[in-house]
Amino acid sequence: MAALANSGGSAKKRVAYFYDADVGGFSYGSNTVFKPHRVRMTHNLVLSYGLFEKMDVYRAPPASSAQMQAFHTESYLKFFASVTPESHQVLKREEMLLLNAYGLGDEQPVFHEMYNYASAVAGASLSGAALLNAGKADIAINWSGGMHHAKKSKASGFCYINDCVLAIVELLKTHARVLYIDIDVHHGDGVEEAFYSTNRVMTLSFHHFAERFFPGSGGSMEDTGDGAGKHCALNFPLKAGMDDISYASVFQPAVAAAMTHYQPGAIVLQMGADSLAGDRLGRAGHFNVSMKCHAECALYVRSLGVPLLVLGGGGYTLSNVPRCWANDTAALTDTALPRAIPETCAYRSYYGPDFAVTVGAAARQRNANSPSYLQRVLQRLVASMRAAGAAAGLAAAKGAAHAALLGAPLPPPLKAGVLSDEQLDEDPDRRPPDGPACDAGKPPAVADAQPMQVDQ
Ligand SMILES: [Zn+2]
Repeated sequence: MAALANSGGSAKKRVAYFYDADVGGFSYGSNTVFKPHRVRMTHNLVLSYGLFEKMDVYRAPPASSAQMQAFHTESYLKFFASVTPESHQVLKREEMLLLNAYGLGDEQPVFHEMYNYASAVAGASLSGAALLNAGKADIAINWSGGMHHAKKSKASGFCYINDCVLAIVELLKTHARVLYIDIDVHHGDGVEEAFYSTNRVMTLSFHHFAERFFPGSGGSMEDTGDGAGKHCALNFPLKAGMDDISYASVFQPAVAAAMTHYQPGAIVLQMGADSLAGDRLGRAGHFNVSMKCHAECALYVRSLGVPLLVLGGGGYTLSNVPRCWANDTAALTDTALPRAIPETCAYRSYYGPDFAVTVGAAARQRNANSPSYLQRVLQRLVASMRAAGAAAGLAAAKGAAHAALLGAPLPPPLKAGVLSDEQLDEDPDRRPPDGPACDAGKPPAVADAQPMQVDQ
């Protein structure tokens, strides 16, 4: 994989960075490992290192209910907006059943103003996508986003609103095909499910795959999409001990093959930091991936020269997530960070005892991913990508040919969700046969996104 210093394409990229100061102030509660505070810590590092000077900084409006209904059901959104920690305590039996059906209450706790939190996160991803559509940025970053487990009518894996899906739907207004890449340690199941039956989105998820590892279903090589989406839902199941060299041996070739055969007009990259070595949850998969490897994935995707939306995701070791995402931000803005955390960093005490920005790998676990296993999986994925491209009538393209394809006419918009709210209420996990609604008539959300004044 290319080194930091000389990868990322030749032209300087315009980077838009979305941050909402309120997001870091929300709390899922003391009993959960998911901490929105990590986004505030990331932003503080971005400020401390002066990275904001290399980006346009925005605060996006929250996503409206109508915008979120491009994927989520109205009944789920209404319930999600109405339930509070107080009302949760006195729900009637039927309401409790609904709460459980919607995935709320345990791992997805009911907390104060959770609707405001989730709609703010989704609003930033939507505005990032709209900014890319408008040609006002080459890269948009929303570290609060990447909530890839949320389903049409169900919260899951700490995710309530699937901003990845909403942003992809926004990008589909301008682009014929969107590639979604997920390097979170967990399978990007909510995004895969949303687009399982359409060939307008290819999902490519690299994740640990093992019995009893969340989300516990899907994510194998056997799941490749359905109907028109056959060969467009792709998974790279990884075994314990994944390290930088192994990651580099498959990530770049797999993404390159997706570019050649599928020719997306835009890419969404979910960069969950729980794939790093030593993550509080991800370590169950015994990954041994460094922060440098993470950034190199971002740089390689950037080098492909198509509009890129970068999102956060999982990440549960509070001191490592900000280091990782600040370093990713630095890489995407062609900046090498000094190793020492700046004295001006408000959360510097979190980064002891070394006070260094790096998160290295530590060989704690034998790498169970043999080169032959990785190459076998890679070849299967490439075969699927070739089949997906052929089914879409695409001739394999390389290099600059990708850019020429961006002006190709759009296929018809995706059909609105076929299942009714009532049907989804009966079975919230049921897969929508035609993907999410895609309202091509909606104005870009970025119309209301305001550039921010940044104070250090
Ligand atoms: Zn995760």
